[in-house]
Amino acid sequence: MIPTIPYLQGLFAHFNAQFFGGELPDVPILLSHAKSYVARCEYKRRRLLFGREQRYGFCIRFSTRLDLPEPEVEDTLIHEMIHLWIMYKRIPDTSTHGRVFRQWMNDINTRYGRHIRISHKLTKEDSALLTDAQPRKPRIVALVSMKDGRRGIKVLPRVERRLKEYRKGVLSSGKVAEVRFFLSDHPFFGRYPSSAALRVYFPPEADIDAALAGAWDLC
Ligand SMILES: [Zn+2]
Repeated sequence: MIPTIPYLQGLFAHFNAQFFGGELPDVPILLSHAKSYVARCEYKRRRLLFGREQRYGFCIRFSTRLDLPEPEVEDTLIHEMIHLWIMYKRIPDTSTHGRVFRQWMNDINTRYGRHIRISHKLTKEDSALLTDAQPRKPRIVALVSMKDGRRGIKVLPRVERRLKEYRKGVLSSGKVAEVRFFLSDHPFFGRYPSSAALRVYFPPEADIDAALAGAWDLC
């Protein structure tokens, strides 16, 4: 099925009550034609005084490129709702799909017989549909927020261990406030070498934002 917004909103309200005690905010659910993700949870941030940060503009996006079986649409939505819970409640986690995320996922799966997964396993046909005729290469991009307010990027190999090492490495410099990972097929990132080197590049922030606009937030 290709989900519609009212359908997803109905599911959201249902799962919010069932799994999250109705505590999740009613966020907009938007459809996209993205090739790089099935669904994702997004938010914006504003820097406040004293290094604090406000999170706002939460939303969940669903790509309409894939015709998924209904249970998979549901599980995908719940997956994003777990992200929303963690982001909204500002719960620290060990990684994008870290300990807290997995705990939620396993708990809902066990108690309610669901099959939420960490990543959406795409079949070959799914991938072909999502990636278009001209294949674009998805890259893992680290978005590095410096303590001095600048934001930089680094393209990394698609190996989870390398991502963890990179995050740990740059954080240990003492100059980095946060590292988030995105999956992006934007050609902009093709200009940067993909390696595990502990480097950060600082292109104009507007370019970073524009290139990451369609990216899949891996947190
Ligand atoms: Zn996720």
